[in-house]
Amino acid sequence: MNYFTSLIVCTLASTMVFCQTYKPADTEVWEPVPPVVDPGTSSNAPSDAIVLFDGSNFNEWEHLNGNPVKWNLEDGAMTVVRRTGGIRTKKKFGSIQLHIEWRTPSEVTGEGQGRGNSGVFLQEIYEIQVLDSYQNSTYVNGQAGSVYKQSIPLVNASRPPGVWQTYDIIYHTPVFKNDGSFEVPPTVTVLHNGVLIQDHFKLLGTTENVGHPKVIPHQNGSIMLQDHSDPVSYRNIWIRELD
Ligand code: MG
Repeated sequence: MNYFTSLIVCTLASTMVFCQTYKPADTEVWEPVPPVVDPGTSSNAPSDAIVLFDGSNFNEWEHLNGNPVKWNLEDGAMTVVRRTGGIRTKKKFGSIQLHIEWRTPSEVTGEGQGRGNSGVFLQEIYEIQVLDSYQNSTYVNGQAGSVYKQSIPLVNASRPPGVWQTYDIIYHTPVFKNDGSFEVPPTVTVLHNGVLIQDHFKLLGTTENVGHPKVIPHQNGSIMLQDHSDPVSYRNIWIRELD
């Protein structure tokens, strides 16, 4: 609601007074009109998203060596088959919004990093940790929702093992200088089950298990899902390109 139909602003310049009348319409912007997107329901992708996995096939995925995916496909979900290796999207991406649902095994066997470990790698390089972090302590920069070994999640929003969980990830690809260092570092924002856990974090480089992050120039890359020997499941994966 507009409370004023116009506003008169006067300024003093030297010995002269200049007055100007402003109207609400002066600051209204009408173009460009944002594209209309059907947001879908909680289980469907928005209308402008690329569906990477709808539970019916592995068409968008391959193993890291290019071979067809050997993970289990059952009940609308894919599940890691131990030691078959990680999988990645055939298509490569730059800056993205990614929705992905994951579930750690209901039967709890290991502890710490050995309990429902997998990971979502952005551009095949930067890992957002997937782990059963429900009443399961480990190093906090390696728990669920951490930017692995770089950024501790703001809170632990984990659901119990065997229950589906969501990540909504907004990632911006880096810009590199000619010398290979970051001109603009990659950034990531993550919501875990709808709760903000990473808030525009500036990545330091690769998410190494051993040693410090490395800055390695790269182009666009795939989304990669990790085989860490635990039967973690994924479903309902979609992505929106932000470039
Ligand atoms: Mg992992």
